[in-house]
Amino acid sequence: MTPTRLTPLTDELAAEARRWLASWGVPEIEDAVHIRYSARLSRSWARCQPALGRITIQRGLDTAPAEFLREVLAHELAHFAAHALYGPAIAPHGREWRALMRAVALPARTRLAPPPGWHAPARPRPVARYYLHRCPVCRAERVAKRVVRRWRCGRCLDRGRDGELEVFRLERKPRRFWPFARRGEQM
Ligand SMILES: [Zn+2]
Ligand SMILES: [Zn+2]
Repeated sequence: MTPTRLTPLTDELAAEARRWLASWGVPEIEDAVHIRYSARLSRSWARCQPALGRITIQRGLDTAPAEFLREVLAHELAHFAAHALYGPAIAPHGREWRALMRAVALPARTRLAPPPGWHAPARPRPVARYYLHRCPVCRAERVAKRVVRRWRCGRCLDRGRDGELEVFRLERKPRRFWPFARRGEQM
């Protein structure tokens, strides 16, 4: 199949979207709308920006039951169609939009509970890194969130050694945690 602007959708859902647009009398919207999934959308299932030609669907919803995604998509496409047919001044979920939903035999709901038993896939959390700076001579330690090359072991410097430290990356935040040294501060 050649890619179209509906490509992020499954073939089945894209075909259905085409049918809805045709029955609303606005088949040209297929070439005007760009559909994408985004992880940045988390407070609503989807969002429609007709002026930008964009429908954004929460990433992860592509794993939701097909019926659910179908209603979310129809909801947003109906916003798009209502905008094209009646202009930007109409109420977002007013009678024009509700009539379009009814025309394709879907409920005109404005709040949609998550499908039972389905949970949005967890977003990977950034891994925190901590760096242990250790004096190989006297074993003094200090931790920072990045490697601090200028740190030296003060005690060893005082005794005429070079005070150089070894650095190890830690997977977890250690129990004792020292914040950054101020500029030029010795360890
Ligand atoms: Zn809406
Ligand atoms: Zn030392």
